[in-house]
Amino acid sequence: MQRHPFSARLSLSKHRAKRYSEKPGPKGNAQINIITKIMKITEHLEKAIGETVFSFEILPPLKGFNINSIYENIDPLMEFNPPFIDVTYHREEYVYSERENGLLEKKIVRKRPGTVGICAAIQSKYGVDAVPHILCGGFSKEDTENFLIDLDFLGIKNVVALRGDAVKSETYFKPEANGHQFASELVEQIRDMNEGKYLDEVIEKGHNTDFCIGVAGYPEKHMEAPSIDSDVRRLKQKVDAGAEYVVTQMFFNNQCYFEFVEKCRDQGINVPIIPGLKPLATKKQLSLLPHRFHVDLPEALIHEVEKCENNQEVRQVGVEWCIQQSKELIKGGAPVLHYYSMGKSTNIRQIAEAVF
Ligand SMILES: Cc1cc2nc3c(=O)[nH]c(=O)nc-3n(C[C@H](O)[C@H](O)[C@H](O)COP(=O)(O)OP(=O)(O)OC[C@H]3O[C@@H](n4cnc5c(N)ncnc54)[C@H](O)[C@@H]3O)c2cc1C
Repeated sequence: MQRHPFSARLSLSKHRAKRYSEKPGPKGNAQINIITKIMKITEHLEKAIGETVFSFEILPPLKGFNINSIYENIDPLMEFNPPFIDVTYHREEYVYSERENGLLEKKIVRKRPGTVGICAAIQSKYGVDAVPHILCGGFSKEDTENFLIDLDFLGIKNVVALRGDAVKSETYFKPEANGHQFASELVEQIRDMNEGKYLDEVIEKGHNTDFCIGVAGYPEKHMEAPSIDSDVRRLKQKVDAGAEYVVTQMFFNNQCYFEFVEKCRDQGINVPIIPGLKPLATKKQLSLLPHRFHVDLPEALIHEVEKCENNQEVRQVGVEWCIQQSKELIKGGAPVLHYYSMGKSTNIRQIAEAVF
């Protein structure tokens, strides 16, 4: 297995600094006081001094559900001390319904709103940094500016800047009128606000926000990129525009990640590259994940999953595969292992218990 020189690993100790302190409550009962110190992801990584950190991503619940479903997702994972939790952003979708006259009516719906509210709730309940994802798609530059102002007022210090996919009924991504075409432009707008530059020219010198900006990277290349090398050059543009770290698309073969990191380093991308991991959980995902995320599955994994008689067995195979991936990535010096929980924490917990 090829290794990459991400960082010097000083310690693989299982001990992790707690961000909670226990003090006696008014009646002498132990009371959890949450110590909230908002930090940038880059600061969290510096503080970890080479030790691999656990973190995960959640998605907002479907409209109509309350925030308890988020807490049920997070609670079982808190003992592994994630310094940050990502919350995805879901843009609008077009839904067509038939009218009485037989014509189709187009409606715009957002099935999973609430990213900002969830981030604020996480920071206040757990004292852990919440990282909202922010998209070009569906946002004009003014919408983006207002969104960032809300985040700044809420004390949210980190964002992942993404282009977003095309809406489901369209083949290609279309930016909003006066919106951004590529994530690199969104990064530039956030960097401008960090320098006190707002869209409204009347504001000569505005408040400097202080966002730490993450961006997406694709070990197996983004589906629209003509080649992995050109995709890495585009990633370099995002870093040059102000991105301070990269989070990768999921992958199931660590070699893809190690080679990707090497390519990035060769291109002069020197920021942390955080691997994103997803444990396989159903047989259907054998075709769904390659279709939706444009990733390859290793033959050995496919073989093991095909032998399974039900999804419970598949989940166990997925957990074991992910544990092996995680251990190897830690040995290879990955700064963080970032798990895509997709609203389920049981399998992520099994993995974290074995790895952290
Ligand atoms: C870690 C991670 C988290 C994600 N979270 C979300 C989420 O919360 N919500 C969501 O809707 N989606 C999310 N996505 C999916 C993401 O929005 C899609 O993959 C999207 O298609 C690309 O986003 P990007 O930010 O990588 O785009 P970009 O970096 O803009 O790249 C898009 C494509 O354009 C190319 N390109 C870039 N710049 C240029 C240029 N100047 N000229 C020509 N080509 C160029 C790139 O090579 C690439 O093929 C996430 C993806 C990852 C990996």
